[in-house]
Amino acid sequence: MPGYGAVRNYVLPGHSNVSRLSPAISHRLITEEEVVRAALSCHPFHRVEKFLQEVLWRGFWKGWLERHPWVWQQYRAACQDYEDSSECVLVAQGRSGTGLMDAFARELLKTGYMHNHARMWWASFWIHYRRLPWHIGARHFFTHLLDADPASNTLSWRWVAGLQTPGKTYLVTEQNIKKYCAPELIEAAGGVDLGGPPDFVRPFSEDLSHLPRELHEYVANDLPCDREELAVLLHDEDMCLETGPLSATKPVLIVQLNPREENAASPRALWLKTARADAAERSRTHFQTNVVSCVSVDEAIGHVANAEVGVLAMMAPFVGPLDDMIRAHQQVAANSNIRVVYFRRQWDKALAPHAGRGFFQYWKRVQPLLKSGLASLLNS
Ligand SMILES: Cc1cc2nc3c(=O)[nH]c(=O)nc-3n(C[C@H](O)[C@H](O)[C@H](O)COP(=O)(O)OP(=O)(O)OC[C@H]3O[C@@H](n4cnc5c(N)ncnc54)[C@H](O)[C@@H]3O)c2cc1C
Repeated sequence: MPGYGAVRNYVLPGHSNVSRLSPAISHRLITEEEVVRAALSCHPFHRVEKFLQEVLWRGFWKGWLERHPWVWQQYRAACQDYEDSSECVLVAQGRSGTGLMDAFARELLKTGYMHNHARMWWASFWIHYRRLPWHIGARHFFTHLLDADPASNTLSWRWVAGLQTPGKTYLVTEQNIKKYCAPELIEAAGGVDLGGPPDFVRPFSEDLSHLPRELHEYVANDLPCDREELAVLLHDEDMCLETGPLSATKPVLIVQLNPREENAASPRALWLKTARADAAERSRTHFQTNVVSCVSVDEAIGHVANAEVGVLAMMAPFVGPLDDMIRAHQQVAANSNIRVVYFRRQWDKALAPHAGRGFFQYWKRVQPLLKSGLASLLNS
């Protein structure tokens, strides 16, 4: 990890210069807090600062999207209204005829991973060279990445497109690729030719008149019932219930939400299957209770109603598809006299309020808290 800052931008075969932790972190098989603690327990702050910054980017993006949920809603609506063109399909499948970009596209489909710098290049190629809609590229990533995260993904794509930081667009250049991509990868792909001049595209204009919303207005600190009168929902955004604020509860039942993936044989679906089984097993052992698998929120609510439990507690999903899905069923739960209660980890509660503006203001505020030990951060 020391030395990470100097090497992280290089795209090398096998990606040994980066951690590959993002699938585990994005599903909270391990938490950012655990990663930060582990890094600081082995190294002084200044030697791992760049790595810590990267780990904290996720929380920054999440905090930002929590305050600007209409950005997510607009992205969702744009995806729904759009019919894929054959050009989108060709580029997404790695058949654009542009060797290195095609190699990255195929790596994503085959492994569910793409290096950060390759994601930047590929997204820029998609938007500014092939002039394809940014949100369809983002949706493609979201479908295939093992670490698919609504905030990191949508906002990174917006940044490349020039929407996230108005006036700043990320444009890939052949020179930059030659500097950071391993020569053997370039050679195997037949060169770095991006197939034509770029064209800065501003994909769609947006209404920026909304005010940021208040954070966590619906998150509880305590349970509105006896600890033994509840069920808990286990979902893909937090697969480690035994280390979070629900760890001391004694649920009658755990319902695990396992929506079906479109392609059950994809690397993402296979990865999720293993991760979900592991999360269920750990929850069963920790809470000493039954874990029932459900494919929909309706089905989950049905199980809770049958168990005659009045409270369904869960880790609050962040703005994204899971949050949309659960909120859409609030009324179904209410009709069954089930109260849904949301919890957040202290880490998220402490960090999200700092994510109002740009990352570097966020880092400036969070860095002293990390330096003075996590206790001060988590008690703030
Ligand atoms: C267009 C685009 C789309 C992206 N989509 C996603 C996504 O859906 N999910 C996702 O987790 N990341 C996304 N990222 C961010 C980043 O590419 C990945 O987090 C990173 O490549 C994961 O690999 P790693 O674990 O080896 O990272 P490392 O370099 O080892 O970094 C350590 C950890 O820091 C965090 N991290 C690193 N870089 C970023 C970043 N730029 N933003 C947020 N967190 C970061 C991750 O948790 C990562 O595991 C996207 C970036 C771009 C440019």
